[in-house]
Amino acid sequence: MYCRICDATPTSAFRWSYVLDNSLLDPEDEAMKRLRIGRTFYRAIVDTVRHRTALKSGQLYQCPFCDQFWCLYADFLHRLSDDQASLIHRWNSEPQPVSDAIRTTLSVIGGIASSRWDPGSGVDQIVVPARVLLASTLEVETTRVFVSKAPPILDSSGPVILGSEVSEVRESELALPLNVRNACANAPEAAMGFRPTCVCDLDGTNYILDGSQLFFEKNGLRGRDIRIAGKENLTEDLEVVSFDETRITSVYFDWFEGCLELTGGQILDTAIRPWWRFW
Ligand SMILES: [Zn+2]
Repeated sequence: MYCRICDATPTSAFRWSYVLDNSLLDPEDEAMKRLRIGRTFYRAIVDTVRHRTALKSGQLYQCPFCDQFWCLYADFLHRLSDDQASLIHRWNSEPQPVSDAIRTTLSVIGGIASSRWDPGSGVDQIVVPARVLLASTLEVETTRVFVSKAPPILDSSGPVILGSEVSEVRESELALPLNVRNACANAPEAAMGFRPTCVCDLDGTNYILDGSQLFFEKNGLRGRDIRIAGKENLTEDLEVVSFDETRITSVYFDWFEGCLELTGGQILDTAIRPWWRFW
């Protein structure tokens, strides 16, 4: 059903405070005209949605006309699909704790801390690639394990599940070593949207990974076989190897006191600083 408020503009998320801040737009500025028109639609959403409940983190809103759910987190209002809304209700209604056993495994694999939505909101998630065993004894080989303050609303193409559904976490042979993931996460942009990291296998054959990568699989090679190669090896001929995102299931555990230890002391110094400099 089309809603004249929620569907007037095809937005999936927008910045809440920006819509409310009238000082940002100069009415005399012709170039800002289109922006003002777009903002009118966002403003109608902000003025219309009703607050439903405070979440573990974030706030849940709903449109009184079409029942569309919206989630406010880190100053962004996100449109929720039906699946996301039901997931958020389940995520919010019970704890998603990391057990001691899972904590130990995550610590061995090592995670990378980052800011999910907005660098200004500070570090709010740790991501660890792993293999997980679900309570139903189903095994998922490639899982992106989040220890997260943020609600489980991802622009992920794969399935999303909750930590309470996981009975065991194991190392995945497809997961890249922590120092490779760390290099990928911090790789600077070489061309628009292209953030290359040069890696090699144990035979010294080079490949390029683009942006933040967690897993690797190519011609029988697995993530654990991959090492960082020197930048001097970067040539245009190297193959860019990506991992099919739809193969990755995302799992959400609750953030807990001291969870930054999962990144390891040394990594905290080197890996997280580039994110923290935004604070
Ligand atoms: Zn609506």
